Amino acid sequence: MSDVISPVLARNLHKSYDGGRLKVLQDVSLEVRPGELVALLGSSGSGKSTLLHLLGGLDVPDQGELAVCGLDPRDEVARLELRRRHLGFVFQLHNLIPDLTMAENIAVPALATGMDPAARQARIAELTARLGLGHRLTHRIQDLSGGERQRTAICRALMNSPRLLLADEPTGSLDEETGSSVFALIKELAERDGIAVVLATHERRFAEQCHRFVRMRNGRLSEE
Ligand code: ADP
Ligand code: MG
Repeated sequence: MSDVISPVLARNLHKSYDGGRLKVLQDVSLEVRPGELVALLGSSGSGKSTLLHLLGGLDVPDQGELAVCGLDPRDEVARLELRRRHLGFVFQLHNLIPDLTMAENIAVPALATGMDPAARQARIAELTARLGLGHRLTHRIQDLSGGERQRTAICRALMNSPRLLLADEPTGSLDEETGSSVFALIKELAERDGIAVVLATHERRFAEQCHRFVRMRNGRLSEE
């Protein structure tokens, strides 16, 4: 094998719901290289979230081969390792804990890996400064704007220095300008930090600014 493991290697994935009646993914293959920013473009209900969930080990394919950062998310031990050390997830609705502060939310992934408190504080300070959130560390989530919440969710996803970021319509709940700035940030993570990103979106303007985009339609992926 080469020394560079593809963060995403999926071959011939199939996934259906409703006892096989609703075929959501059919023969889907996708490879993502380190530092590559790939958009998954498709309309609502086309299966974007389903594919990201399979990649992140939140759901399992019915068939197919899958390696994420060299690990099989279907295996329980590998899945834990993947979530703790290699993978960050950003959702459309940030999924932060509203009663906790920004810093407390960002710290959550570090609790699972047992990062020591000093390193944890340093990492939070580094990430929030970079994402322009440093002045908001002690604010509770419920007191933040939509853009600040989404940037907080990105900080949380980056806490354990992942090699792969799965972003599920991260700009979907934001206005146009805020969405553009969050997208620019994600693009910088790929280009400056070498993090591979799979970005689900229904907006062509974002897909066209990615390194590559694939289109989901009727359960199938096609390269554009
Ligand atoms: P997208 O993210 O592109 O909007 P999804 O992957 O969420 O699409 O959904 C694709 C299809 O699969 C939709 O028809 C949706 O209703 C269905 N679906 C998604 N998750 C489930 C589930 N857990 N059980 C049953 N149907 C589901
Ligand atoms: Mg979705």
